[in-house]
Amino acid sequence: MRIVLDRPRCEGHGLCEEAAPQLMHLDDDGELVLDREEVEGADAALANAAARVCPVAALRVI
Ligand code: SF4
Repeated sequence: MRIVLDRPRCEGHGLCEEAAPQLMHLDDDGELVLDREEVEGADAALANAAARVCPVAALRVI
């Protein structure tokens, strides 16, 4: 599965990072960086959790 970020939609609040710090982080400029895009198993579950907590639906797992 793959994590897809809709960057224009992202507001940089970082809730996704709290849900899945192994997979993504905010950089020093407050931009979200995906450390991993391809995910399987437990990581896919974490990615889905991150997508669910995003208040602006900027993350999808496809
Ligand atoms: S929770 Fe959503 S809006 Fe906030 S940093 Fe993550 S992707 Fe961007």
